[in-house]
Amino acid sequence: LADDQGALAVAQSWGERDQCGLRLTDQQHDSVIAQAVTQRAPLFSPSSQAGDASPWRLADCAALVMPLLAQDLTLGLIAVQDADPETKLGPSQQDFVSSVASQLAIAIENARLYAEVRGFNAALEQRIAERTHELQIERDMLSTLNQIALEINSTLDLDLLLASSLQVFANLIGVERGSIMLIEEDTYHLVDRAVLGRSRDQVGYTRFPVGHGIAGWVAQHRKPALVPDVSQDERWVELPENELGRKRVGAMALVPLVVQGEVTGVMSLSHDQVGYFNEDHMRLLGASAETIALGINNARLYDEISRESVRRGDMVQKERSATTQSSAILQSLSDGVIVCNEYGGVITANPAAERVLGIPLEDLLLMPLPDLLRKLLMQRAKELPIEAALEGRSTLQSYATKFQRGRYTIRVTLDPVVTERGQTIGALAVFRDITREVESERLKDEFIGTVSHELRTPMTSIKGFTQLLAMGSLGPINAQQKEFLSTIQTNAERMISIINDLLDITKIEAGSVELEIRPVHMAEALGNVIVDVRPQIDARQHELHITIPPGLPLVRVDAKRFDQILGHLLNNAIKYTPVGGKITFVASELDRATLPPAVAEQILPGRYVQIDVSDTGLGIAVEEQELVFERFYRTENQLKIEAGGTGLGLSLVRPLVKLFGGQIWLRSFIDEGSTFSFVVPAV
Ligand code: ADP
Repeated sequence: LADDQGALAVAQSWGERDQCGLRLTDQQHDSVIAQAVTQRAPLFSPSSQAGDASPWRLADCAALVMPLLAQDLTLGLIAVQDADPETKLGPSQQDFVSSVASQLAIAIENARLYAEVRGFNAALEQRIAERTHELQIERDMLSTLNQIALEINSTLDLDLLLASSLQVFANLIGVERGSIMLIEEDTYHLVDRAVLGRSRDQVGYTRFPVGHGIAGWVAQHRKPALVPDVSQDERWVELPENELGRKRVGAMALVPLVVQGEVTGVMSLSHDQVGYFNEDHMRLLGASAETIALGINNARLYDEISRESVRRGDMVQKERSATTQSSAILQSLSDGVIVCNEYGGVITANPAAERVLGIPLEDLLLMPLPDLLRKLLMQRAKELPIEAALEGRSTLQSYATKFQRGRYTIRVTLDPVVTERGQTIGALAVFRDITREVESERLKDEFIGTVSHELRTPMTSIKGFTQLLAMGSLGPINAQQKEFLSTIQTNAERMISIINDLLDITKIEAGSVELEIRPVHMAEALGNVIVDVRPQIDARQHELHITIPPGLPLVRVDAKRFDQILGHLLNNAIKYTPVGGKITFVASELDRATLPPAVAEQILPGRYVQIDVSDTGLGIAVEEQELVFERFYRTENQLKIEAGGTGLGLSLVRPLVKLFGGQIWLRSFIDEGSTFSFVVPAV
């Protein structure tokens, strides 16, 4: 039979010599066998020749070699040798051998084909078995994934979810230990959140920094780890008190839990048997890790959402109770309050508004606030620029005015409602019935007016008679008498000036002051005043600086009252500046850019002259700068007694300046000095 290399070996032999197994590799090219094989044709050699010398060739024998041919293959050959070719290898024997050879060839070929088919079959069966096994694993994996997905979808409770995922693996892979550790955000440590066979309160004690231990390695490298034997693994970290029932034996399988590209934890399974886990386990773990991580994410989101909704609920509750509170406060206020939105539409009005304004609440709610104010205030509505306030154009925070409703006097205050970000979202009007206050104020003014008037007559006669006595018209007087009389006279004059101030104030407030407005030259007016104050300036050794630019326009004022204003301001500067100070008087045409904004807003367009009276005196504290313009208000200072005074001067000056169409303000710093400035219209 031909072997792989085309060599021949004896497969079967009959006769005297058993040549079975004899390899015929050494046959020569011209040997009968070689020729029969290469020529694929029977050969007959009557006697052995020199070229035929080989172990198989029998001496002195004729040989018949018949190749076994199957299609284009030579399968082997049949060789028959005999010393008597005449009778044993004659033509009929040759035919017989030839027919045996062809049948043998067919039989061998059939046997070979049969073996091949058998081989194919075996391979196919093995392949089927392998594929069945693969499918089995695939199915197991899918069913596990499905089971895990089911568990995960059925709960948003994170602990429950982790515990049941572990349980699924325990049942399926038959592991003995397992845990899921999650990364704690603030410490970046892995902390156990679920351990197979442990309850919720028994976990949370094992912690690893990310990068530490096998689990730490998995979290850091975001790669699964298949550890056949932990006792051989460098990364293993022994924990005190043998946490998690950890033993340094057996195999471990770990996978990172990754959500949206971020590691949130590590799932690890262990088994006492070294090399327990295989690649299939790892594939299953890897595939489930995604689902578990997603579940963790969902549970966390759910957790966050529920916490947020609880927080919002609390907030709503708080807001509700705050609203109830403020509405209760609003209802019980004695002042009428109306609140409108940025379009003027009324949002709310309290019962007091109904009472104070004498308008039914329903009507108040229906009428836009600007319309209501126009209706109530008529001409004076200009004083409450509500439209400007609502559009956020006005810089003034609060406006106030009074109006009459029949016999009632009502004070209204208007404030824009501004959000924390400075956006105007509406306005708030407060109405207060001030009828009684106005009435008592009126009675008081009337009383002061009457008393002052009644006092002035006797004071005038005291002054007159003292003057007569002092002049010696009624007989000679000695030096001491003269001194006393002069004291009486100065005090009488002081009292008369107080009474005059009081009368002036009452007149101005009652609106009955008569003004004689005409163009007045600044230097001229100042000249008159300086004559009066010069003695005090000299007595206190102050320096006086005056600046009046040439070409300064004339001012449109009542000359007498203007002198009064200048007199008061200069007097104060002199009085409230310690000896040896500096008083400055500056007049100039108004430059609006230099005005404080609150003042600029109050001054109508046109030409004005500004006067600044500055001193280097005691100064006035910021919180008192508005109060000094009030009647009888005096600040506490070391010159208070020495300066004398009633606290009436500035309360007279301010309304006078306003009557001229001007404004007054001041800038002052304690121990540095004050500047009183005012503007009056120019011609
Ligand atoms: P009087 O001067 O009669 O007390 P005023 O109305 O003129 O009354 O002034 C009120 C108060 O303002 C004064 O008592 C004083 O405390 C303070 N004041 C006024 N002018 C000055 C000033 N130039 N420097 C410091 N304080 C002043």
